Formats: sequence, C-alpha cells, structure tokens
Amino acid sequence: MDFRLNEEQLMLRDVVRKIALNELAPRAAEIDKIEKFPWENKKILEENGLLGIQISEEYGGAGAGMVSLALTVEEVARVCASTSAILTTQALASDPLLIGGNHEQKKRWLTPMANGQVLGACAITEPNAGSDVTGIRTTATKSGDGYLINGSKIFITNGGVSDIITVVTYTDKEKGHKGISLFVVEKDNPGLTVGKEEKKLGMHASDTRELIFEDCFVPAEARIGAEGDGFRILMKTFNFTRPAVGAQAVGIAQGALDQCTNYVKERHQFGQPLSSFQGLQWMLAEMSLMIEASRTMVYRVCSTIDNEPESKDIPRLASMAKWLASDTAMKVTTDAVQIFGGYGYSREYPLERMMRDAKITQIWEGTNQIQRIIIANSILK
Ligand SMILES: Cc1cc2nc3c(=O)[nH]c(=O)nc-3n(C[C@H](O)[C@H](O)[C@H](O)COP(=O)(O)OP(=O)(O)OC[C@H]3O[C@@H](n4cnc5c(N)ncnc54)[C@H](O)[C@@H]3O)c2cc1C
Repeated sequence: MDFRLNEEQLMLRDVVRKIALNELAPRAAEIDKIEKFPWENKKILEENGLLGIQISEEYGGAGAGMVSLALTVEEVARVCASTSAILTTQALASDPLLIGGNHEQKKRWLTPMANGQVLGACAITEPNAGSDVTGIRTTATKSGDGYLINGSKIFITNGGVSDIITVVTYTDKEKGHKGISLFVVEKDNPGLTVGKEEKKLGMHASDTRELIFEDCFVPAEARIGAEGDGFRILMKTFNFTRPAVGAQAVGIAQGALDQCTNYVKERHQFGQPLSSFQGLQWMLAEMSLMIEASRTMVYRVCSTIDNEPESKDIPRLASMAKWLASDTAMKVTTDAVQIFGGYGYSREYPLERMMRDAKITQIWEGTNQIQRIIIANSILK
C-alpha cells in the first residue's frame, strides 16, 4: 500500500517539530541526569492536545489516526525519548479501552485520557511472565458485584505517575489465554500499592514501577470487554502500539543522525573536516538508508491501520516495523557514538543518551525475538 502525508499531517509534523525543538530539547539532558518524570513536558503534550491524538473525537481526542500518532511520537523522540514514552504509554493504556471498552467506560476513562488530564499505564509484565503473557499469576476473583485483584506487576511504565492502570489478570486460569481479562484500576483504589522505581540503562526520565495488588476491589463495570476477552484485546492493542514504538525508534535514530551531520562538518582531523573522509560518509549514508527504510515501514503499517483497520496484514507489518526500526535505532545510535569518537562516549553530548534510550525499543511491547515468531507464524500458516 502506498501512503502520502496529507496537508493536515504535514502541518501536525511541523507544529510538533517546533514544540520538540523549542520546548522539549533544551530539557532532555537535564531530565535524563536527574532521572525524574518530566511533569513540565507532560503539560506541554497535554496543552497541545498531543496525548489523545489517535483517540476519536467523540471521546475528546483529535481523531487524527495512527499516522498522526507516529508523526508526533517520532518528532518528540528525535529530541527526547523519555518524553516520547509518555505518548506511547498513553496509547498502550488507552487502546484496550478504545478496542474493547463500552460507551460508559470510554466516556469515563478515555475522555480524560484523550485531553491529557489523566495519564494511563498498562500492567502486563510480572516477575515470571514477560514474553509469555499466559504465564501471569495475577488473578481477578469474583466478589460481590465486582472482583478482587491479587498479584504483582513489574516494569510498568508510568506506574507511579498514572491516574488509571489497565491491568491484565486471569479470571479463569484453567482456560489459558481464553481466561485472561482486563480491568481498569484507579490509582487511589485501596489494595493497590505502587512499589519501587526501577533504575535503568536508559529512558531515565520515564517512570518504571512495580505495582502490587492485594485484595484490590474493582466493580464489574471496570472490566474491559467480556471475561476471557482480555488476550484478544491485548493482542489487537499491540498491533497499534508496536508501530508507535517503531516511530519512537525512527525518531531516536533520526535525532542521532541530525547530531552527526552537524558534527562531521565542524570537527577537523588531519587538517580536514570529518565529513571529507569517505569512511564516515559511507557510515552516514547507511544510517540514512536504514532510517528511511524504517520510516517507510512504520508509516506503511500506520496507514494500513487508518485505511484498512481489519486488514489481516496488520500484525505482521506491525511486528516488522517495530523490529526493523528498533534494530535501526540501536545500530544508528551506536555508529553515531563512534562518529563522535571520545565525545560520543561523554555525557557532554547527547549521543550516549540516545544509544542508551534506543536499546529499550528492541525489548518493550514484545522483544524482537517475539516479533520474529509472529512474522514466521503469519507466513507459515
Ligand atoms: C523500561 C521498561 C519499561 C517497560 N514498560 C512496561 C509496561 O509499561 N507494561 C508492561 O506490562 N511491561 C513493561 N515492560 C516489560 C517488557 O515488556 C518486558 O521486559 C518484555 O516483554 C520482555 O519480557 P521479559 O523481560 O520478562 O523477558 P523474557 O520474556 O524473560 O525474555 C528473556 C529473553 O528471552 C527471549 N525469549 C523469550 N521467549 C522466547 C522465544 N519463544 N523464542 C526466542 N526467544 C525468546 C526474549 O526475547 C529475551 O531476549 C517494560 C520493560 C522495561 C525494561
């Protein structure tokens, strides 16, 4: 499928690019250093209506679709990956409601998420269950007119700063993936404890938490979809959020290339600018090639989601986009550190941060090994 950015999408890209360069870029190094969630940046995203870009207008979003979400994430990640994680996590938390929620639930939780007043998190991973979601142990047991949730989650992005959390549980373990159900838990719900903050390699300004649920009561109205429908909703959610992670990776890689193209013209060795050395020119050409290929893949799947949402190609394309773009981000940022030499390794320059931030895009929303399995299964069936 061919795609072209329309006038509105081009305008959105320019607006977000300006916001990113003028308001987010100046703070990127500092928030990485202090390792604190950037509330000022969250406010900027909120005030500019960027936290609900793909949510339908009926529920207070911009209704601008996946291509627009990808453009927004890419431009933000280009200067500050941690801030782009606020956008991708909001999508990860809100998409289950968009896909499986009823009208009342959407009005109650999606609308404040769309206008950015409410932040969301999505809690899937547990100490013993990451790639294999069916390995989770958290349960939701019927109790009166609701459920009691028990279990613990780890590595939950925005876990300590979110107002609502989409939680993945078993309502019937015997049924395997058909016994998985999703619930919305509000942050002040008794029985929910926010645990320790994870210290990480990268994405320092992104809040990553343990969450503990102890007899955490939720009413039946907090269940998204039918009992047992959670796995299906979650897998459909990943079809939308993996391309967003792809866009995040493209942004990180483009940010590193931007830095390099300036640096090689300014830095001189052997009496010449670095840009005159063919060895480095070829590295830059390869970086540019890989970024363009990744971007094309990401926008292709986003465009398919916007125009043919029921297309059977989406899971495979989403996995391909995420895999290609995240491997590109890792390679490009590593090469960018090399091009900067010792300065690339120094915290005085942003390259080492970009390289650290790139790594997570190969891991979250399903590792790239899991993406290979999805692609192989889809071509072999
Ligand atoms: C900073 C950060 C933020 C995160 N945010 C969230 C969040 O908001 N919500 C959430 O629920 N989770 C979140 N996660 C968790 C993340 O999604 C998982 O770490 C990821 O899915 C991998 O799971 P795991 O760490 O348990 O690795 P494992 O599943 O234990 O995998 C270990 C290794 O084995 C490989 N592997 C596993 N199975 C196979 C297989 N069948 N074939 C080949 N190789 C395989 C994996 O690719 C990996 O290399 C976050 C993690 C981090 C680090």
